[in-house]
Amino acid sequence: MIEEVVARLTAAGATPARAGRDPVNLPMIRTWLEAMGDGNPAYEQAGVAPPAMIQVWTMRGLAPSPVDDPLQVMSELLDESGYRAVVATDSEQVYHRPLRLGETVSVRSQLEAVVGPKRTSLGEGWFVTTLSTWLVGDEPVGEMRFRILRYKPSGNPDRPATEKLRPMITADNAAFWEGAAAGELRIQKCGECGTMRHPPGPACPQCGSLKPEYTTAEGTGRIHSYVVHHHPPVPGRRAPYTVALVDLTEGVRVVAEYRGPRPEIGDPVRVFFDDGLPVWRPDVEVLGPWALEVTPTLIVSTALATRDFQNVHHDRDAAVRLGGKDIFLNILTTTGLVQRFVTDALGPDTRVRGIRIRLGTPCHAYDTLTFTGQVLPHGIEVAGRTAAGVHVSGTVEVAS
Ligand code: ZN
Repeated sequence: MIEEVVARLTAAGATPARAGRDPVNLPMIRTWLEAMGDGNPAYEQAGVAPPAMIQVWTMRGLAPSPVDDPLQVMSELLDESGYRAVVATDSEQVYHRPLRLGETVSVRSQLEAVVGPKRTSLGEGWFVTTLSTWLVGDEPVGEMRFRILRYKPSGNPDRPATEKLRPMITADNAAFWEGAAAGELRIQKCGECGTMRHPPGPACPQCGSLKPEYTTAEGTGRIHSYVVHHHPPVPGRRAPYTVALVDLTEGVRVVAEYRGPRPEIGDPVRVFFDDGLPVWRPDVEVLGPWALEVTPTLIVSTALATRDFQNVHHDRDAAVRLGGKDIFLNILTTTGLVQRFVTDALGPDTRVRGIRIRLGTPCHAYDTLTFTGQVLPHGIEVAGRTAAGVHVSGTVEVAS
C-alpha cells in the first residue's frame, strides 16, 4: 500500500507551480528581521530579502494544503498506517540568487525518497524526503530538500538514561583533571630530567625519578590516528562518536574525543573542554559562542513572521498536550537564526548561498540556545545547543 502510493507520487513528478500570497515586500522582511533580532542593514540597503526567508514567501498560513501536495499525501497515509508521530530531521536550502522586492515567488514540490520501515531511536518509522523548487517566472531561484520521520513512538527513546562516566582521579592524574576542570591541558613532566610523559604515572620512564611536575600544553597538535566508536554502548554517551590520538605540539600523545567533520591523519586540532573533559576540534577560526535566551515572545513572533501558524509554536496548552514541555521554535526560525549567527560573525555583506541543517532536540521557551561555529574549507559548520542537547547542526555555505 505504502509502496504503491510512493510509486504513484514519484511517477507524478513535481506539482504545478503554486504562487505565494504576496510578492517579496519590505513590511514582511522588516517584521521578520525584527522578530529574529537580526540588525543586518544589508538587505534593506540592497532591496533584497534575507536568503533564509525563501520559504516564508510560499507558506500557506492557515489555508488548507492542496490535495496533490506529496508531503501531505505521504503524511496522511503514514498516519493512517499507525505512524502517528512526526519529527523533521533535515532541511537543506540552496539559494541561487537574492530575491528582490516586488518579485512573485512560486513553488513546486515533488517526492524524492521514502525509506522504511526503519528502526530509529524514537521508534519504527519512515523517512520521507521532498524536494521543493522556488521559481520567479520560470527561473529557479532556490531549492530545499526536506526530510521528516513519521514513526510509532516506542515509549523508551534511546536516550542516555545513565550518568556520564566520570574520570577516576588518582594521585598520579589529579593534576591533569584539575587542569581540565580549569580549562588547561596539563602534561606531566619529570622534576629531575624534564621529560614529558602521558598518561601520567608515578615514575619517569627516562630516569626513574619519582618527582612528577607538570607543564601546561598549548593545546594544539595533529591527528595521529582515530577510531569511530559504534559499539559497545558507553554510559551517558550516544554512539557513534570519534576518539582521536593526537601528537601534541610539545611531543607527547594524548587521547580524547574528537568533534567535527571526519578528520584526515595529520589534521591540525586544538583542545577545548566540555564539562571538564578534553575534546579535540579542528584548529580553525571559531565563531561564537552566541547565547540566545529563547523567550515565548521570540518563539511566537518568529513563528508569525515566518507565516507558521501551527499551534505548537504559540499555544502552550497545545504543545503540552502533544508531549512537549512548552512551545518551541519552528524550523524556519532555526534556519533564520543560523543565518543571523553567521552574518553577525562574518559581517553584513556575507552572502549566504546555502543552509543545510540537521534537527535534534526541540528548543523550548525559556531554553538558552548557544551557537558555535567553525570556518572550514567547505563552509561554516554551525551547532546550536540547549541544556537538553544539540538542537541544530549543519553547514552554511557562503560566497567567497
Ligand atoms: Zn626523568
